[in-house]
Amino acid sequence: MHEWSIAESVISAVIEEAKKERLEEITEVRIRIGELQRMEDEIFMFALDELRKGVGLLKNVKIEVETEGVLFGCRMCGNEWKGMDLNEDEYEAIHFCPEVSHAYIRCPSCGSPDFEIMKGRGVIILSLIHI
Ligand code: ZN
Repeated sequence: MHEWSIAESVISAVIEEAKKERLEEITEVRIRIGELQRMEDEIFMFALDELRKGVGLLKNVKIEVETEGVLFGCRMCGNEWKGMDLNEDEYEAIHFCPEVSHAYIRCPSCGSPDFEIMKGRGVIILSLIHI
């Protein structure tokens, strides 16, 4: 499932970083997830928790997850707007194929379909706190 594979890549990125930096134990990890990832928080947290078990350097880790809302930026007029008004179909379409969003969404200011998704995509590890 989606949540599990993302959780897996987060955990392995954290382990990689810990090895590179020769960290002994990580106490806190902060992650930012774009709204367009459409994650089920509960499943994601459960997956992270399961996956960190048995990893020595993550035995006492606290994982914080924050969500980043969608922000669009128009290439024609520079207008920026939030993705609050997207309906389910639009969310699904963008989630699976961001390029498709141009068929659904127009700049509310000038009507152009030429915009970029400035925020709300991807998964970022914001910080690691370690001993
Ligand atoms: Zn515009």
